[in-house]
Amino acid sequence: MSRFSSSSTPYKSNVICEDTFRDLRLEGKVAIITGGASGIGASTARLFHANGAKVIIADIQDELGRSTAEKLGENAYFVHCDVSKEDDVRDLVDAAVARHGKLDIMYNNAGVLDKPLAGILESTKSDLDKVVSVNVVGAFLGAKHAARVMIPRRKGCILFTASACTSIAGLSSHPYTASKYAIWGLARNLAAEVGEFGVRVNCVSPYAVLSTGMTPISGGAAEVAQMEEMVSEIGNLKGHILKAEDVAMAALFLASDEAHYVSGLNLLVDGGFSVVNPSLPRPSL
Ligand code: NAD
Repeated sequence: MSRFSSSSTPYKSNVICEDTFRDLRLEGKVAIITGGASGIGASTARLFHANGAKVIIADIQDELGRSTAEKLGENAYFVHCDVSKEDDVRDLVDAAVARHGKLDIMYNNAGVLDKPLAGILESTKSDLDKVVSVNVVGAFLGAKHAARVMIPRRKGCILFTASACTSIAGLSSHPYTASKYAIWGLARNLAAEVGEFGVRVNCVSPYAVLSTGMTPISGGAAEVAQMEEMVSEIGNLKGHILKAEDVAMAALFLASDEAHYVSGLNLLVDGGFSVVNPSLPRPSL
């Protein structure tokens, strides 16, 4: 018991408690990560696992998901789950609870992109259907089934990967942007409902992360590095390159007890990109 908390209060507080800054920030927690076979999800699975979580990687890429889990070893496994199918998501959550007795963290990260540079006239209803069926339906089903098991325990953390396109216009296609705004709306609305039960709900919203499955670059490491530099140059925070690991670090914070009073947040991992108007003159140093 921390000297800052009292046994007579039902409120949880870990303000500067002894273990706030320990290395294993998710020790003993059970975490599902959808879209965990690749990119940001795989990085998060590795980081959560390294921080002591029992990690369930849920994805439709069976081979990749299984090998990601196998590389982690003990306390990590893969489950085939198509997040657009309610039976898959229900079974995923129920299996985690049956095996571990609880679910602490549900990271709804699985996502797809349509045609990134398409304008409204090139965008089709099937582009919209594609992103809605995975990004929105998957987030909704993941949230619903996580809430189902978290509410009775009166604790839990539901996370989503949205995007910096929820904060600045013109970054992505209309269907994708609409789907990510829907996720952010869902997260806010859900935070309002489940806060009463001690469940926290937050989004992580990255700027561009290259070399994930979503933005494959065929030309090898040199081309990836070149593209990353270009994207960094367009960005606000010069000299920094956004990697999947940086997004995972933000997810780790939100999933950990260090964020025990953080809910309803859209945590932008964009180096300030969405708050800066680049056309304004800057003071010269
Ligand atoms: P990624 O393609 O490497 O990862 C997405 C994962 O989702 C893949 O493993 C894929 O198999 C899985 N997936 C797709 N459809 C699925 C389904 N129906 N059921 C279960 N799993 C499914 O790409 P990423 O960049 O790591 O994307 C992760 C998340 O980050 C996505 O939600 C994406 O929209 C978001 N995001 C990415 C970027 C970026 O620049 N890469 C920027 C902002 C937001």
